[in-house]
Amino acid sequence: MSNNVTVVCGGGGFIGGHLVADLRRQGVGPIRSVDVKPFDGWYQRFEGVENLVLDLQDKAACDRAMDGASVVYNLAADMGGMGFIEHNKALCMLSVLINTHLLMAARAAGVGRFFYASSACVYNGDKQKDPSITGLREEDAYPALPEDGYGWEKLFSERMSRHFREDYGLQTRVARYHNVYGPEGTWDGGREKAPAAVCRKVIAAKLSGRHEIEIWGDGQQTRSFMFIDDCLKGTQMLTHSDYVEPINIGSSEKVSINQLVDIVEAIAGLTLKRNYKLDAPKGVNGRNSDNALIQKIFGWEPGIPLRTGLEKTYAWIYDQMVSSAKSK
Ligand code: NAD
Repeated sequence: MSNNVTVVCGGGGFIGGHLVADLRRQGVGPIRSVDVKPFDGWYQRFEGVENLVLDLQDKAACDRAMDGASVVYNLAADMGGMGFIEHNKALCMLSVLINTHLLMAARAAGVGRFFYASSACVYNGDKQKDPSITGLREEDAYPALPEDGYGWEKLFSERMSRHFREDYGLQTRVARYHNVYGPEGTWDGGREKAPAAVCRKVIAAKLSGRHEIEIWGDGQQTRSFMFIDDCLKGTQMLTHSDYVEPINIGSSEKVSINQLVDIVEAIAGLTLKRNYKLDAPKGVNGRNSDNALIQKIFGWEPGIPLRTGLEKTYAWIYDQMVSSAKSK
């Protein structure tokens, strides 16, 4: 059988679900979507897609997932925001089994392109101590001092992807995503990231009339946030390109967490009293994407303004909260 299937691993999750939607819009087919979660827990579910519930930590499951595959996007990982990754380091590191077994199965199946979703968490922590950081360049991953747990797994899996390409000719591509946000993502339950958490807290304050918000850390830590549409574009561009080194896919619009709250408050049309929880997980002090390399290689970088993406995300989370309140 010739290989012609596009496989999205982690298709029941946030980025994977949007990627399947985008591939369908483009008429790509056949598509297979794989996730460990029970099917009714997938964030987005599509007809006309081969949807498989499999645990990709298991090698036999990876063999099944890679059967007839030509293009593979590995977006499957046990992950979440700072609150999750700081308290679940072993779980995060076990995702090494997913990428390792997928690479082995992809090699055996003769896959043409294999995309791996790495993260800005691979960057050396010493370069992220200052909130006024200018931006992390790709070479800043070494000497290695990544985020403990989650970041080490990502860095190791990046290298595994590199060596499968160098030693076995499997065409791997690696993106270092910087915070991705948008509708149809995690917004509560403990795995959510800052943009969704802030939207949820502001909406809760608006709906309850209790005009206060808890902020993790002192609010001065800086980040950049990439809207999902930019992530999808960059991911597919990289996967089908000849560029083989890990590359940043992230926004370079740096904001402090306080500024993030300002924007969401403006969308909601209210101002809240801020309570800073200084002992909460807050991650590094400063992180931003340096986009010189992606500009050089692709003449493009993620550019959807934070305010534009947050308006869409806020509206979606608002609907979720109102409809879940009604169903209670
Ligand atoms: P997500 O948690 O929404 O999606 C990941 C999916 O992988 C989940 O649906 C989960 O059930 C699935 N999964 C976990 N273990 C599995 C297993 N053993 N077998 C099969 N499926 C399994 O996360 P996301 O935001 O969509 O992230 C996708 C990828 O991008 C991950 O690798 C993540 O580390 C990476 N990444 C995301 C961000 C971000 O800001 N969202 C930033 C950097 C990197």
